[in-house]
Amino acid sequence: MAPLPAPHIADAESWVRAHLDGLHANPDDWSPSRRFRGGQRAADTALAGFDGVGYAARRNEVLPPSARGASALSPYIRHGLISLSTAWAHVGDAPQHDRDKFRDELLWQEYARHLYVRLGAQMASPLRFAPPTERSVDGWWARHDMACLDAALSELDGDGWMPNQMRMWLASHWAVREGANWVEGERRMFRELLDGSCANRAGWQWTIGTATGRPYGFSRSQVERRAPGLCATCALSTTCPIADWPDADDSVPLTHPVALRRGDHPPLSRDLSPRDDSNAPAMVWLTAESLGDADPALAAHPDLSVIFVFDAPLLQGLRLHPRRLVFMVECLADLGERREVFIDVGDPVDVLPVDSLAVTNAPVPGFGVRAAAVRPAATYAWPWLVPPTDGPLASFSAWRRGVGQERSGGPRQRSTGRRRRR
Ligand SMILES: Cc1cc2nc3c(=O)[nH]c(=O)nc-3n(C[C@H](O)[C@H](O)[C@H](O)COP(=O)(O)OP(=O)(O)OC[C@H]3O[C@@H](n4cnc5c(N)ncnc54)[C@H](O)[C@@H]3O)c2cc1C
Repeated sequence: MAPLPAPHIADAESWVRAHLDGLHANPDDWSPSRRFRGGQRAADTALAGFDGVGYAARRNEVLPPSARGASALSPYIRHGLISLSTAWAHVGDAPQHDRDKFRDELLWQEYARHLYVRLGAQMASPLRFAPPTERSVDGWWARHDMACLDAALSELDGDGWMPNQMRMWLASHWAVREGANWVEGERRMFRELLDGSCANRAGWQWTIGTATGRPYGFSRSQVERRAPGLCATCALSTTCPIADWPDADDSVPLTHPVALRRGDHPPLSRDLSPRDDSNAPAMVWLTAESLGDADPALAAHPDLSVIFVFDAPLLQGLRLHPRRLVFMVECLADLGERREVFIDVGDPVDVLPVDSLAVTNAPVPGFGVRAAAVRPAATYAWPWLVPPTDGPLASFSAWRRGVGQERSGGPRQRSTGRRRRR
């Protein structure tokens, strides 16, 4: 199709129905997220509503929702409406313990991005240890008799989002307790989440033990601690299948090693991307990684119109829930109130003009492939929180040591060592 002007934000859902039918999962379920609206304005409002106070003590709380300390900023962080640097600076006045803990989590996100940009598709391979046994499991993902899993799945279904604890519950139950194929579970969660990303396969690898050899064992005690009162409502309260810890196998064999030492998988470029000022771009190309007003290419060319392409071949494979597509169209529609924005559907390599775009280097392997064909006139560096290095990736702490444990200008972080993420 010819590029279309971004719709009004209220028409995002009908736009997706009209133009992206067949490129998503769940054709019968069109409900947008109950909780999250896309767009820079929504992102700014969400950020302004988070002050970080109490984050350290409450980030793991699940129920009641009023007890939670997590920011719920991840859909906006995922799509570049809030950069990790902006989130980092935002908590500058929070109490030190909360600020450090929040920044620690931002660094986990940064680490996941570095892993993905360097490992690419290998993120779907067990990084260091064999996964729990893998069998085919079906039937419990949509609804569940266990109140804890049902609460997590209902929130995922309604909002396209869950707090970290619930993600760990689902991932551990799926792969560690049920012994189901972890990548299958990861893909199911990914498709439902507004913040789903291949980089965050790291979350699965750390939960199920393929990154550390120590799987997180989901059990009733965590539910009682993080969601008090929930077990009393459960049909299986007296016959709880997770009353005890799952059998732990301390000798998980190292059968699928991915080389993660210094120098293995160096970054393709250190993000010193060429910017050819003699070749003036005619339009700004936005990618799904960077839909915010502060996108470097967008900010550098305030007078140019903007093009976004829904990558049809990619979407056909991903089968995202339609609410994710609605969220993204809302982002573009919101931007359309300040800039001239066009949306196209197709293979970016076929539909984008060659040699005439300004774009920001996206930290995902697929960007380089498309950019090589499109040959942008100007490529702007990705706003990393920590610049890429060829340092070790074997663990968060190893990576963090390798990058000096601090971002430039930021305070020195305490070393956390291996953390038990419970
Ligand atoms: C099995 C599993 C799957 C996950 N899948 C995703 C995913 O697809 N997309 C995604 O963005 N995050 C994922 N995470 C990480 C984390 O759960 C979410 O980033 C977090 O729950 C988002 O909520 P929040 O914004 O309230 O986080 P907050 O606690 O408020 O933290 C602020 C930000 O820090 C980062 N962050 C927080 N916790 C983590 C973490 N454990 N790992 C990496 N970054 C973190 C996120 O960018 C988050 O938005 C996953 C974690 C697990 C255990």
